[in-house]
Amino acid sequence: MNKDIATPSRTREILQKHGFSFKKSLGQNFLTEPNILKKIVATAEIDEQTNVIEVGPGIGALTEHLARAAHQVLAFEIDDRLIPVLADTLSPYDNIKVVHKDILQVDLKKETEYFDQSGPIKVVANLPYYITTPIMMHILASDLIVDELVVMMQREVADRISAKPGTKAYGSLSIAVQYYMEATTAFIVPKTVFIPQPNVDSAILRLVRRKIPAVEVTNETEFFKLTKAAFILRRKTLWNNLLNSYGKDEATKLWLENSLQQAEIDPKRRGETLSLEEFARLSNALEANKQ
Ligand code: SAM
Repeated sequence: MNKDIATPSRTREILQKHGFSFKKSLGQNFLTEPNILKKIVATAEIDEQTNVIEVGPGIGALTEHLARAAHQVLAFEIDDRLIPVLADTLSPYDNIKVVHKDILQVDLKKETEYFDQSGPIKVVANLPYYITTPIMMHILASDLIVDELVVMMQREVADRISAKPGTKAYGSLSIAVQYYMEATTAFIVPKTVFIPQPNVDSAILRLVRRKIPAVEVTNETEFFKLTKAAFILRRKTLWNNLLNSYGKDEATKLWLENSLQQAEIDPKRRGETLSLEEFARLSNALEANKQ
């Protein structure tokens, strides 16, 4: 087996050889702890049938661990300076394709035509923290069915995504993700294992796609609009937030009032106390009562 890229000494050697300097604006914090990489691969339960998508391979620390376990790996890297570095560090592996593109601009369905064998598709990545949420949303909203995501992010964002109703961290992001996926925090990663060190600790979030969405809604777009509206001002009641988003005229008030009553939801509650089921009930009532 090849020497791990992710040891602190090998990482420094690679950076020096290529004269690489970190760009903070691209969220470049490289992992330098092979044991954590092994734990990530184990959490994602990758085997030789699995096709993996990686976001931001950096110098290939995680990529090589994925390549050793998976069938194939497709990695998207935005930084042109890293493309020759990756060609060098990943040269021992023939089951990796590095694509020099911004992940947010990628048509995942099209790019994954690279995979020459059908099998589960999993996203495994140490995400650039400045765009964690847009990346998650881009992947979840894409036409490609991703079976599982095992992704590293700031601990606080992982907490928000996996939060339960009634907690401070619970919000429209929790609902947007949990609608499609079952979310759990797998483990915490201390900031000391990165070069350079980020300001905060990280967490590995595991998201497993539900066979069907968590709740049944008649109009997904309206459901997500409602969940966003309910959290616009966290300290306000559901009623106030709904009026601010949908309008304050008499017809709208009547529509909201009737729908809340039908869904058996007290308008004086705050959005953060409503479960996914309750949001679905309210969204379906709003749809049914639309003029
Ligand atoms: N995977 C490596 C590791 O664990 O050491 C690097 C992770 S680093 C936190 C994030 C990586 O994402 C960097 O290599 C950065 O250049 C890349 N990146 C940042 N924005 C990106 C984007 N929009 N699309 C693709 N890659 C991006």
